[in-house]
Amino acid sequence: MSKTAIITGSGRGIGAAIAKRLAADGYDIVINEVSQEALDTYGAQTAEECRASGVKAECCAADVSDYAQCEAMVKWAKDTFGTIDVLVNNAGITRDGLLLRMSEENYDDVIRINQKSVFNMTKLVGAVMLRQKSGRIVNLASVAGLYGNPGQMNYSASKGAIIAMTKTAAKELGSRGITVNAVAPGFIQTPMTDKLTDEQKAAMLAQIAMKRYGQPEEIAGVVAFLCSDDASYVTGQTIEISGGLSM
Ligand code: NAP
Repeated sequence: MSKTAIITGSGRGIGAAIAKRLAADGYDIVINEVSQEALDTYGAQTAEECRASGVKAECCAADVSDYAQCEAMVKWAKDTFGTIDVLVNNAGITRDGLLLRMSEENYDDVIRINQKSVFNMTKLVGAVMLRQKSGRIVNLASVAGLYGNPGQMNYSASKGAIIAMTKTAAKELGSRGITVNAVAPGFIQTPMTDKLTDEQKAAMLAQIAMKRYGQPEEIAGVVAFLCSDDASYVTGQTIEISGGLSM
């Protein structure tokens, strides 16, 4: 029987690379974006690229910070594909600024979209996986959640929370054959990091042992491993993928 993966925020960037990699590994794919406009602009193209691997791929617009919209998406995915075998909580945003200049709105938005979304989707898909007695959940954390980062009080809080949520979910769901892990990327070339200044990018590069930025496919490969049979006894872990940024 075919298996299905939902990847949140997967129209572009790391999420799109994960979707295409899991499609190549034989999963039917749910591409999610916050709006129909985003799906029309780049999500549909990503779905098309997934279908080139001979699997099904469908798009679903839902704001993952909104519980009711997540509930509708998970119900639609279950009705459409029959099972949900993999959940990748990838959607995320940055609203950077030094602490004393950070607005309350920018703090709350990042916590809601990066962190509450993981609660929403893990609870809803976790219920499906509990009934199936199997499943793989992979969360996108960040090196900022492990070590902190100036200008990212909101983002590092959300990513640190995701690491703690990964361990809690792993402990709650493990006895039913469900693994929950996280990856913590360093600097990966995507629309999210494109908006940093050349000065910020150069400062980051100086700290990377491998002296190059990461590519979305290098995150997708580790996520695919965590979803594979080879990772059947790995749970509650956070794997750093940063080219040696933080040694
Ligand atoms: P990205 O290019 O900005 O992609 C993020 C995706 O999430 C976008 O498609 C975005 O939609 C979507 N999204 C945002 N809010 C959403 C919502 N409320 N509901 C549904 N989808 C939503 O970022 P990325 O670099 O690929 O990052 C992917 C994940 O990796 C994020 O969790 C990020 O924090 C994490 N990460 C990235 C890096 C890096 O260096 N790039 C490093 C560490 C961790 P729109 O296209 O409409 O904005």
